[in-house]
Formats: sequence, C-alpha cells, structure tokens
Amino acid sequence: MTGKIPLAGVIGSPISHSKSPQLHRHWLRTYGLAGDYIPMDVAAADLEQVLRTLPKAGFVGVNITIPHKEAVLDLADLVTDRATLIGAANTLIFRKDGQIHADNTDGYGFLENLKSGAPNWRPAAGPATVLGAGGAARAVVASLLDAGVPEILISNRTRVRAEKLADDFGNRVTVIDWVQAGNILEDSALVVNTTSLGMLGKQAMRVPLDGLRRDTVVTDLVYAPLRTDLLVAAETAGCVTVDGLGMLLHQAVPAFERWFGQRPEVDSATRAAALR
Ligand code: NAP
Repeated sequence: MTGKIPLAGVIGSPISHSKSPQLHRHWLRTYGLAGDYIPMDVAAADLEQVLRTLPKAGFVGVNITIPHKEAVLDLADLVTDRATLIGAANTLIFRKDGQIHADNTDGYGFLENLKSGAPNWRPAAGPATVLGAGGAARAVVASLLDAGVPEILISNRTRVRAEKLADDFGNRVTVIDWVQAGNILEDSALVVNTTSLGMLGKQAMRVPLDGLRRDTVVTDLVYAPLRTDLLVAAETAGCVTVDGLGMLLHQAVPAFERWFGQRPEVDSATRAAALR
C-alpha cells in the first residue's frame, strides 16, 4: 500500500463533454470510497509521457477515449485478446510493478445494456444488423459473436472499412452496401446503430426505416440525444428499443471494480448521475 488516495480519470481530446467523471464520482460517493476521477485533455504527442507519469502521482488507471483508443495499444505492456481483436482500448490498469495493462470493455457494456434493456432478446433469435464499422462497431460485433448471434450483416458508408471488419471477424459477418442498409432491416432480430448519425451536431440518420418489424430489438450507441430519431421511429413501429446511455454506464463497471475494489451497481441513480 502506498497510502495515496487512489485516482483514476479519462484521457482524450477534447474531454469536457465526458460523462465519466460524474459517473465514477457518483459511485465513489455511493460506496463511501476514498478516491477521485479526473478528466484530462492530453495531446497525442504527450500521451506516452503522461501515462508513464500518472502512476507516480497515485493513479491506478484511466479510461481512454477519442482520439487515443488505438494509440494506447502500442504503449501498453499487455493488451487483452478482446482489445487486440477490436483494435482499440478504453481502459488502462496501472499495476504496482509499473506495467500498463490495456483492455476494451465497450463490448461488455454494449451487451449488458442490451440484456438489461431488452431482457427477452436472445442471441439465437436471428441475424443482427450493425450500421457502421468504426471502433465502436468492432466492439459490438465482437460481443455479439461471442454471445452466439448466428449472422451479422454490417453496412457502412465506407464499404472497405466494413470489409476489413468482416475479414477480421470471420464468416459469420457479411457486408451489405450502405445504400442497401434499409432493405436488410426486416430480416433482422436486432438492429444496432454504431455510427455517429443522429448525434447532436451530426447528420441525421437517413437509412430508410420502414422495414423495421415489431419483434425487432433496436439499439443506438448515440446517447445525446437519449431518444434518437432511430429509436423514436423504432418505437413507432412497435419495436423494443434500448438507448446508448446504459452502454456507457455498464462499460465502466469492470474498470471501477479493478481500480477501487468494489463492483458498482448500474441503477436509476447511476443513470441520473450520468445525466446531471
Ligand atoms: P468512429 O470510429 O469514428 O466511427 C464512426 C462511424 O460513423 C463510422 O462507421 C462512420 O462511417 C460513420 N459515419 C460518420 N459520419 C457518417 C455519415 N455522415 N454518414 C454515414 N456514416 C457516417 O467512431 P466510434 O468510436 O465507432 O463511435 C461511433 C459512435 O458511437 C459515436 O457516436 C460515439 O459517441 C458512439 N459510442 C457510444 C458509446 C456508448 O457507450 N454508448 C461507446 C462508444 C461509442 P465511415 O467509416 O464511412 O466514416
């Protein structure tokens, strides 16, 4: 024991929008734990030096967000298999022996949120459509394949990115042209938006949604706004919908437990704290 108050934080650039500080501080207060969680705006050129210095100041780990999620894989001493497969890390553990371990808990957070928001959804129910092929899509695809989804149809504006994803994840993943995305919804048991379309300040989702069936589960990774146009359209079609905030909350659970030694609950008070 160093006797230092354990510190954690989130590193990105920009970082002022992050909801993680209020989330982790809520859990620290709820469980009466000593510690703090600090947002840090760090430029790419300073990332390595900052990561090597933080443990000396009492940091037990950090979350990593845009634009550093890929770069930290080269700086870590050990990278978990799932972070390697996804090609990005969102959680770093600073070990007492000085090593930095990198993990990716986005897929875990996605699946936990889906299971809690759509408890009747079953992986074997049928194909899943994933819109987008960026870093978040890779975490979603990894978790859906792991859960046993039989087939994933992936559609992305930039087709070559979807093809790279399909190559990396194997023959249960099929690429569908972006202009055809609306045509595959009616065959899907699950539809996931992993693009930034529909987010505040970004372009609207233009994929035609009239193919949505009422027994399809629809979830959006975008959580600002909480009710995206996709989720509103899906609700109108009678679908079960799951918003993206819960993914943010659930992905933080394993990291908080590793850093502060307490597995936190995701409940309505947690949601309220993140939205504050
Ligand atoms: P990313 O790697 O930059 O990928 C962005 C994705 O959005 C790509 O598929 C990109 O397609 C697509 N896209 C962007 N603009 C588009 C447009 N005008 N038309 C069509 N497609 C467009 O980002 P990411 O890390 O995967 O994050 C994606 C979204 O997920 C963000 O909104 C992020 O906030 C959200 N997210 C949420 C959580 C959560 O906890 N809820 C966690 C992670 C991410 P191209 O390949 O063609 O550029």
